[in-house]
Parts: sequence; structure tokens; C-alpha cells
Amino acid sequence: MSYLCLENVVKTFNKTEVVKKMNLEIKQGELVSFLGPSGCGKTTTLNMIAGFLDVDGGRIVVDGKPVHLLPPNKREMGMVFQNYALFPHMTVFDNVAYGLKLRKVSKSEIHTRVTEALEMVRLAGYEKRYPKELSGGQQQRVSLARALVIKPKVLLLDEPLSNLDAKLRQEMREEIVEIQKKVGITTIFVTHDQEEALAISDRIAVMYEGRIEQVDTPVAIYNHPQTDFVSRFIGEVNQIQGQVVEALNDNQCLVSLDGYEQVLSVHQPKDSVIDFYIRPEKIQISIENSGGLQVRVERKMFLGAKTRYILVNKEKHFIADISNVALNPDLVKEGKHVCIKWNPEDLLATKK
Ligand code: ADP
Ligand code: MG
Repeated sequence: MSYLCLENVVKTFNKTEVVKKMNLEIKQGELVSFLGPSGCGKTTTLNMIAGFLDVDGGRIVVDGKPVHLLPPNKREMGMVFQNYALFPHMTVFDNVAYGLKLRKVSKSEIHTRVTEALEMVRLAGYEKRYPKELSGGQQQRVSLARALVIKPKVLLLDEPLSNLDAKLRQEMREEIVEIQKKVGITTIFVTHDQEEALAISDRIAVMYEGRIEQVDTPVAIYNHPQTDFVSRFIGEVNQIQGQVVEALNDNQCLVSLDGYEQVLSVHQPKDSVIDFYIRPEKIQISIENSGGLQVRVERKMFLGAKTRYILVNKEKHFIADISNVALNPDLVKEGKHVCIKWNPEDLLATKK
């Protein structure tokens, strides 16, 4: 049963559709990330869910009830922004209490709930401080407490960690997931950072130009991208073109890459060119001539646990990342020839 549904949601700015008939179903308690490049419509979609922007088409349903015509304060959603958006002239306590005061909650209950919320984000004792007296990470925690204190049905986070430095960003993302799971709150987390999305999400909705390209678990998004865009945007890929030597049957063909032949599970006519992708860590290098594709080692970069090899076959460059435990990089000399191979099942086919 889905808890939050977007049904054919559309947003148009100046006659341009920036959100195009978007459909998405999120289960209760699930953490779903919106992941996509800048300008693809993440914030616009979140603002329509929160009620800060009207939809130009479609419906938004929460817990069985349409909410897209309600004002923001009637939608029972908590929102956290990239720039924290705290009230600078109010103390931490008053910032967190704000939504409860608006809702005419009694003074004693406000006290209990604000205290609880600040404990949850590990800011007990900071009640009397002002936002400018806090670090960026602490300000973002206040903002999270302010969103959660109203006990919203849905938590919306718009790039909440983007203003923090790398180390703090990692700590905070783990903290957010911990709190999210503890409270069990249905959450949408917007980010343009693929590692962040892979690390924290139950499912990721990959967005591109106002559309959801694919919604799946992090593992499925990485290992089975369904579109060209998802293949290229998540992780790194080598793009390869092969020549179809023979169509074997309705769903298999024999493909040659400069003499390296393999059977692929796709239907393509003889003599056509086929595009596919392989991730750098799925390439195997052998220093003996043991079949596969012969390449010259152009460069190698020691990266600690692994080494990155830049390999050249004719004009075509490949990137291979190999664990230094699996292959001693001293054995792979720059300028020499080696063979590369991969398992055909590790190829990512390009479906449009
Ligand atoms: P993201 O959050 O993914 O970076 P946005 O949702 O902010 O993207 O923007 C999506 C597209 O809509 C962009 O092309 C942006 O320029 C445009 N846009 C966003 N807000 C407005 C607005 N208020 N008026 C006109 N165009 C807008
Ligand atoms: Mg945005």
C-alpha cells in the first residue's frame, strides 16, 4: 500500500514543463531520494508536495487523501531546506516551537515536545542559543527538530547537507537516517550527490529533465540501470561499441570488439553496431595473452586500496579499477600490452 502518491503531476513555468506527468508511489516509513542534476525539477516537485507551489496538473495523495489543493499548513508535512531557513531573531527553543504555537498547542505540551525533539537531534541544552551562535551542522539539526516536532506525515528534505563540509556531511547523513528509521517517518530526501543517495535510500528516484528515469533500490539502480542517462549518471562507465557478427536467435547475438567476441542477450541485426557500458571495477586485466581485448597500458594511478588503469585499444580508452589485492600493480607496466575481459552479464545494455 502506498502512502504518498504523485499521480501525473505537472508543473509549467513560462510555458515550459519542468515537471512532466510525474508518477511515484512511496510506502509508509520509506526513505526515497530524488537524485538528479541541477535543474531537473527536484525542488519544484518537493515544493508541490509541500504546497509551496500549485500543481498545474495531476494529484498528490497522502494516506488516501488528496492534498494538492490544501495550503501547506494543512498538509502535515515537515520541510528542511539547504540553507536551514531558521528565524535569526528567535532562540533555538522558539524556532522549534514555532509550528506548535501556530497550531495552538498548549504551553506545557510545547515544552515537552520541543525538549523531546531537541534530544532527538542531540541538541538538549541549546534551547536559549540563537542560530548565529551555532555551527552549520547544529543549525541544520535545529531545522530538522523544527520539522519533526509537529509530527508530520511526511518529511521533506531539500539538499539538507549541501552546505556542510564533506566529513560532517557523512556524519549527518547517518544521523538523519537513524532518526528517520526511529521515528518511522515517510521521507523524501533531495540530493544531486549520487554517493549520498546510494548510502541512505530505501529507493532512489533518478530524475532527468522533469521526468523520473528509474525508481529502484540503490543496488538495482547501480547494477541494472534501465536508461542511458541512469547508466552514465550513477557511478562511472566505459562506453563501448561492438559490431554484431551474427544474430544467433531472437534474443542473442554474437558481438565482436576488435576480435574480442562475446554472446550478448539482446536482439540486434547482423552487421549493426551495438552500444553498451561496463563499469571500471568490472574489467579484469590479465598480463598473459589469454584472450579478450589487447590494450596498451597508457597510465596507472595508485589509489590506495585499488589502482586505476587507463588502457588504450587503437583510439579507444578504457578505465579499469582493480583491487591491489587481486592484482599487484607492479606487474602492470606502463607502455606494455595486457588483455582485458569482462563477464558479459556485467555489461549494462543501453535501453533508451
Ligand atoms: P533542481 O532542484 O532539480 O535543481 P528546480 O526544481 O529548482 O531544479 O528547477 C527546475 C527547472 O525549473 C529549472 O530549469 C529552473 O530554472 C526552473 N524554475 C524553477 N523555479 C522557477 C520559477 N519560479 N520560475 C521559472 N522557472 C523556474
Ligand atoms: Mg533544487
